[in-house]
Amino acid sequence: MSLAYLHHNDCLLHDMGFGHPECPARISAIEDQLRASHLLDFVSYYEAPMATRRQLARVHELKYIDRVLEFSQQEGHAYLDPDTVITPHTPQAALRAAGAVVQATELVVTGKHQTAFCNIRPPGHHALRNQAMGFCFFNNVAVGAAHLIEEYGLNRIAIVDFDVHHGNGTEEIFRNDPRVMLCSTFQHPFYPHCGADVFSEYIINVPLPAGTTGDKFRAAVITHWLPALHKFAPQLIFISAGFDAHHEDEMSQLHLHASDYAWVTQEILLVADKYAQGRVVSVLEGGYELQALGRSVAAHLKVLMRIV
Ligand SMILES: [Zn+2]
Repeated sequence: MSLAYLHHNDCLLHDMGFGHPECPARISAIEDQLRASHLLDFVSYYEAPMATRRQLARVHELKYIDRVLEFSQQEGHAYLDPDTVITPHTPQAALRAAGAVVQATELVVTGKHQTAFCNIRPPGHHALRNQAMGFCFFNNVAVGAAHLIEEYGLNRIAIVDFDVHHGNGTEEIFRNDPRVMLCSTFQHPFYPHCGADVFSEYIINVPLPAGTTGDKFRAAVITHWLPALHKFAPQLIFISAGFDAHHEDEMSQLHLHASDYAWVTQEILLVADKYAQGRVVSVLEGGYELQALGRSVAAHLKVLMRIV
C-alpha cells in the first residue's frame, strides 16, 4: 500500500518576508530531495482541500478563526507575534495545511492508505486555541485528531512530536483529554519556554538540554515514550514531524542526524503495527536548514513507505 502524499501550491503563497526561516522554499526543498531520491515515483499524490470552519472550530475559537480568515480581504501584513506575520495569502495557505491533515486522516482511517505525509506550511504545533504563535496559525495535527474523534469515534489517539520546540499549542488543546496522548521531545530551556514541568499519564514531555546527541535522544524515546505508547495502545498515530533538531539546523542546539529521524520513525511504526493497523499520519512542522530538511524528510518517508 503506497504512502499518501498531500500538498497544495497555496502553501507556497504564505510568505513572511525576506530572510524569514519559515519560508516557501522549505516545501520545494523537500520535494526536490524526494524527487532526486526517486521517492515521489512511489507515493500517491493528493492535492489538499481547504479545511472547513467547522473542522477548525473543534480546536479553535470561532472568533479567532474569523480573525485569521478575514485577513484575506485586507492588504499589507501584520505581526500576530514577533515571529509570526499574517499576509492576505496566509488564510488560504493555512486552510490548505489543516485541510491536508483532515484528508490524510480520512485516507488512513478508511484504509485507503496505511501511512500519509503532509508536506504543508504554515506549521501548526504552537497554535493555541485563540492565538497564532511561533510561525503557526491553525493547529493542523490537532484539527486532524479532533476530526478522528468527532467523525470516527476513535478514543485512543497518539501524537508524537520530535520537533526541537515544545508543541505547546497541541498540549493546550488536548491537556485534559484522555483520548489523546502526547509524546514529545524538545530542547529545554528554549522557545516556547514551557512544557518541561508538565507530565501526566497522557502527556509524556521529555526536555533535552542543548548539545543532546542522537544516542541520548534515542534513549529518551526508549525510556519515556515507548512504555507509555505500549500502555496506551493507540488506534492511530500522528507525527508532528519537525526536523529542526538536526545538527546542521541553526535554529537549535540539538545534534540529531537523518538516521535518528529514520530510527524514531521505525519505532513509531512498530507501535502502530502492533496496535493501530500500521496507521500513521505525519505532518511537517519545523526544519529550516533546507538541505538537511530534505534529507531528513527523505529518511523519514523511506521508513513510512517501508522501503527500509
Ligand atoms: Zn520547531
